[in-house]
Amino acid sequence: MKRKNIFKVFLVLFIFGILTSFRDKLFQNYSLYLMPKEYKIIKNSVDKLASKNYLGDREISFFIGSGSYMDIRAKELGLCKDEQCWYYINLSPYKNYKNVQDINLNELIKQSYFFNGIEAYAWNGIVWLSKSTFRTYGERTDFLNCTIGHELSHVIFNDHIEKEIKLSEKLDELKIKDLKKIEEKEKFINLELGRESEMIADNNAAKMLINAGYPRETCIDELTFLTESSKISAVTKNDFTHPGYLERSNSLKKFIDRYDESEYLKSFKPYRWKWSYDRQSNILKFTPQ
Ligand SMILES: [Zn+2]
Repeated sequence: MKRKNIFKVFLVLFIFGILTSFRDKLFQNYSLYLMPKEYKIIKNSVDKLASKNYLGDREISFFIGSGSYMDIRAKELGLCKDEQCWYYINLSPYKNYKNVQDINLNELIKQSYFFNGIEAYAWNGIVWLSKSTFRTYGERTDFLNCTIGHELSHVIFNDHIEKEIKLSEKLDELKIKDLKKIEEKEKFINLELGRESEMIADNNAAKMLINAGYPRETCIDELTFLTESSKISAVTKNDFTHPGYLERSNSLKKFIDRYDESEYLKSFKPYRWKWSYDRQSNILKFTPQ
């Protein structure tokens, strides 16, 4: 072979190599097959729920974070002060970090996975779950689905405006003039309305699971499991964000006894959705089509 031709072969191989590694990187970063197992569990769960439940027409994002354990330890270790510590709660448990002030963040994230329990919330179209939630539920993906259903309900049936209207009506009824007293009352009414929303989200989660064919009692059993593992109070107090176990489980039982899924399923129209994953942003997106 002539020198010129050898050079050409090398050039082609070189370009081919670059393109292959670029494709592999792309595949690794966006592939649903290569995403962490916890994201695969979310996808399976939501696929099941969405097959028998309308989840709205907006995109819903799922985010797995390191959890509140990080906030507590980061504060103790002097890495952050108060509100700044959110940063640590949201750190991706799937990335490698450099030491900060000689503290090994990877070790801290690993500890959080083991010592943080069930933790989930919904905010601005995002369902947030700690990686430790998946460890705590273990094989009980049916229980995990109750939590996912609960957070989905907060996203889909966002009741912020209704709550604000109710709050102002309740405050008007009280006819208080003193600004300090109004603020104090407002805090407790807000908490009370928040607890109502939590029970509605519980009902919606149970509804989603029953529609999808799970045993009716699943979410009540999950509530008992959650209460035991997270040491939730049995009774409700007026400064609680969530109702105590007795109030919450009684309300849920009442709903499940009344709920007739046949009506919903008769009128339910199957629909399509798309999934996309981004490793860098640590986000899995559900997009109805
Ligand atoms: Zn909630």
